[in-house]
Amino acid sequence: MAGMPDPLTAPSPAAWCSHLSKRFGRQQAVRSVSFEVGRGEIVGLLGANGAGKTTVIKMLLGLVRPDDGDVMLLGRPGTDPASRAKVGYLPELFRYQPWLTASEVLDLHARLSGLRPREPRRHELLGEVGLAERAGDRVGGFSKGMQQRLGLAVALIGEPELVILDEPTSALDPLGRADVRDLVLSLRERGVAVLLNSHLIGEVERVCDRVVILDHGDVAAKGTLAQLLGQRRIVLRLGNVGDDARARLRVTGNVTEDAGTFHVSLGNHQAPDGASDRGDDDATVASLVSDLASFGVRIYAVEQARVTLEDRLLGILRHDATATTAQQDAS
Ligand code: ATP
Repeated sequence: MAGMPDPLTAPSPAAWCSHLSKRFGRQQAVRSVSFEVGRGEIVGLLGANGAGKTTVIKMLLGLVRPDDGDVMLLGRPGTDPASRAKVGYLPELFRYQPWLTASEVLDLHARLSGLRPREPRRHELLGEVGLAERAGDRVGGFSKGMQQRLGLAVALIGEPELVILDEPTSALDPLGRADVRDLVLSLRERGVAVLLNSHLIGEVERVCDRVVILDHGDVAAKGTLAQLLGQRRIVLRLGNVGDDARARLRVTGNVTEDAGTFHVSLGNHQAPDGASDRGDDDATVASLVSDLASFGVRIYAVEQARVTLEDRLLGILRHDATATTAQQDAS
């Protein structure tokens, strides 16, 4: 339990875990995973199939017993069932009793949580997830996307302070995904923390404050989006490039060349608060272009490009050599 946040000395994170490990038979599913979700923060959990995301979530929630490591939820140890009183959870796979109506499912879960179902709140919740018109319909007749929307309402019924969503949009159409995005952002506005596991990287990039990337059970990288995406590139289309110009390009950063197109990574210019230092990049590009021109290089195009979360994730999962940089910078 060493290193556990002390609620008396600092505001407790919504979720905190340290050195979580889990083995299933010969399969080491999760290895020494540590991260936290701050109050009112949205954190994305990313990784390939089988990376260990759901196992981590289940260990946080006490549904899978860790072999090693500690969990704290909302200031209480994960071993204390009261730690989960204000935690909402949308599992990856679930099925509700098909004979119940959407309203009855919410009632049932309110009762299971020891809450008195409040009629207005129930309707409001079904409205928030886009099921207001289907409140009295049986779940057996719901599409997968409607069931997922209902699952979200169930996760929110106890007015949670932390919501853990395991692939909340896997069955949703583009409109439904946008609805969930708005819902997640509105949770943050209310100070609710969200841990979001999703394969939809664009979605994660749009809503998450921070990201944890798992690879074969290990944390491969974690940090704010600015930290993880801090590495920016310029793409130059050049002609008449001599050795002196090539050397000048290499001084600027890592260079790859493809038929006159040069990709130069500018490295991690990182302000301490994680904000990117765009001014530094502009100065770097201006001096590079002026030097290249002085070497007689013909400059056809110069474009600044930021690495996307998808680029970063693929780079890490393909064991891109740059992967460790973000981890070191961000952890
Ligand atoms: P996905 O993106 O496909 O949902 P994931 O990142 O959530 O994957 P997990 O479901 O956590 O991955 O699985 C991690 C590893 O642990 C996998 O190799 C999986 O086969 C194994 N695993 C998970 N649960 C069990 C279990 N109950 N019994 C045996 N192995 C398991």
